[in-house]
Amino acid sequence: MGHRLKIGIVGAGIGGITAAVAMQQRGLNVVVYEQSPALGEIGAGITVGPNANKVVNGLGLEDEFEALSSASPHVGTLDNKTGERLSYEIRGKENFLKMYGSVSRLMHRADVHAALERAFNTNDDALKLNHKLTEIEQNDDGVTLRFANGVTDRCDVAVACDGLKSMVRDTLFETEPPKFTGFLAWRGLVPRSKVPNVSLDPHFAAFTAEDKMFGRYPVRHGTLINYVANARRPGFTSESWKETADIAEVLEEFEGWHEDVVSIIRATPGARANRWALHSREPLDTWVSGRVCLLGDAAHPMTPFYGMGAGMAMEDAAVLARCLEASGDDWEGALQRYERARIGRANKFHRGSLERGKTYMSADPAARSKTPNAGMEDEMSYDAMSVPI
Ligand SMILES: Cc1cc2nc3c(=O)[nH]c(=O)nc-3n(C[C@H](O)[C@H](O)[C@H](O)COP(=O)(O)OP(=O)(O)OC[C@H]3O[C@@H](n4cnc5c(N)ncnc54)[C@H](O)[C@@H]3O)c2cc1C
Repeated sequence: MGHRLKIGIVGAGIGGITAAVAMQQRGLNVVVYEQSPALGEIGAGITVGPNANKVVNGLGLEDEFEALSSASPHVGTLDNKTGERLSYEIRGKENFLKMYGSVSRLMHRADVHAALERAFNTNDDALKLNHKLTEIEQNDDGVTLRFANGVTDRCDVAVACDGLKSMVRDTLFETEPPKFTGFLAWRGLVPRSKVPNVSLDPHFAAFTAEDKMFGRYPVRHGTLINYVANARRPGFTSESWKETADIAEVLEEFEGWHEDVVSIIRATPGARANRWALHSREPLDTWVSGRVCLLGDAAHPMTPFYGMGAGMAMEDAAVLARCLEASGDDWEGALQRYERARIGRANKFHRGSLERGKTYMSADPAARSKTPNAGMEDEMSYDAMSVPI
């Protein structure tokens, strides 16, 4: 082609912004289009596993992430009423480094996003806010992107990081619409000072019962406790897949549970929790259509039961940047390498996370007592920075 490829990234969630940083660091020319008027992430916690932290380290952000994170020294599953330990795993830093080559971090999502934003060089007009993509078309010369604000732009390759409801996926790929998985999730961030008596041992705890589970862990050096409360409610219907709910609804759902669970829910700021009707789509067998590829939730919108969706998006981003760098002007070869390197692993987590939700909330107590990463331990040592491409 003879000129420097222009890579258009649609969506500046954790996937899009990681891709932008990883590509810029490899000397690629990127423009990010985000529909929102400002960058950011929701107020909630996030687990950043050792696999995701290898990407973080590879981007040179290790110290920054370390300063913003809480360690995760132990994880466990607990009986929902008595709090008795059903499983318990020590996750010492040394241990994790030895087993997986990196640590696991518990963080505030806004801190993760902000650290990535700081690493993103927005000079040269590399960030276009208020750009909601409404049409995408391609021909032999490139991709045309049309936005709701009336702007039209062109790029050589487009990377769709536009999330679960990806319009790019709907337009260019054979896909069914997002479907309700039968699981609801309520999330909140509670100041530790409001619940001083709640035990934080294990650091990451999942209280499990048939059809329900409650996970909690501290973030921001223990000043906040993040929780995710899940219930299986196949018949649930709501127009909105994401909205806020009165905590009375969550308290009713978790009535009679261990006092730590009840006091955390009760302390939710403003007495309202964010509620998701968890949606997903069937895994795809290709993420590439001509000059356009999918990344992150657009490619594999998984349920949160392995806490891996954002980690997978970060892995995708690192691998795609490496493929584009390695292939030079051969974007076609780069996209094929990317898909080949990533699709099997991501689809495994995509399918596995739904199954993990079912075991967490199984009728069988032995299944419910499994450790949080059960079934995927071997996958944690994956290194997106060095995996063959
Ligand atoms: C309850 C819950 C808990 C979770 N916990 C974890 C966890 O602990 N660890 C973990 O790794 N993952 C977790 N996940 C999954 C994780 O949140 C997602 O996988 C991840 O955020 C996906 O990132 P993304 O960048 O692909 O998509 P998104 O975060 O959805 O970002 C998409 C971006 O694209 C923009 N956009 C959309 N459409 C357009 C358009 N037409 N034009 C322009 N811009 C557009 C959006 O505004 C947004 O900024 C959890 C998910 C849920 C629901």
